[in-house]
Amino acid sequence: MNPQMPQKLSLPGVKQVIAVASGKGGVGKSTVAANLALALHMSGHTVGLMDADIYGPSVPIMFGLGTVNPQTTSFPLEKFGIRLMSMGFLVSPEQAVIWRGPKVAQAVQSFLGQIDWGQLDYLIIDLPPGTGDAQLTLSQSAPLTGAVIVTTPGEVSLIDARKGVKMFGEVRVPILGVVENMSYFTDATGAKTPIFGVGGGQKLADENHVPFLGELPIDPRVAACGDNGEPMVRKHPDSPVAKAYMTLAATV
Ligand code: ADP
Repeated sequence: MNPQMPQKLSLPGVKQVIAVASGKGGVGKSTVAANLALALHMSGHTVGLMDADIYGPSVPIMFGLGTVNPQTTSFPLEKFGIRLMSMGFLVSPEQAVIWRGPKVAQAVQSFLGQIDWGQLDYLIIDLPPGTGDAQLTLSQSAPLTGAVIVTTPGEVSLIDARKGVKMFGEVRVPILGVVENMSYFTDATGAKTPIFGVGGGQKLADENHVPFLGELPIDPRVAACGDNGEPMVRKHPDSPVAKAYMTLAATV
């Protein structure tokens, strides 16, 4: 075995481990991971969400949680029926930011290896953006069923998303498909305006011969819900965004 290669951990109680990844930050990767986790739960599955975005953990904010005392708390935490783990439960973002690569990889591996996730239908892993060491280590050490790539419709996001696809190819993790976030905004008349371009997600999927899993609309409530600790799918289950997530949950 290559000595550089991290050990592949096993999660025998977990049926599917799905990484949600993006080449670029800010495309909505964490939002997709959280809402997909809830949509799967609302579809009747048992679900965990592991926030591996050590430098920018968003799970605590999106689920209305903060740091906890690890001496008196057992992990994963549970909120809205989802089992959750995030570096943001343990350290403030200011502290995590000064961590170096190996420490990050170690933290993420202990999330996988030392936390009792129990029996789960799905463990969703919110990967850090990009294709650096942390992403590579995780993709090699987590027993991934596959990865969902999140992109926005424009060319700039696509350039980085292609690097993500390539990285998973190198570590032989199957791409389950591409999700296009922030595809269009629907105004009061019902007209759809594509704010960030058109067709990027479909293009990325076609180029790589992987499924296109669908478009997720822009809705300002998505951001407000994320900031207020209750993701959109749960807060507004009848919204077009929530319906798009339920369709996505039925597809992955
Ligand atoms: P990433 O994890 O890729 O860095 P985030 O999930 O943090 O991105 O999303 C970036 C910002 O965009 C957040 O404020 C989030 O609430 C917002 N956002 C994500 N998806 C949508 C959407 N479909 N409509 C409106 N705002 C969105």
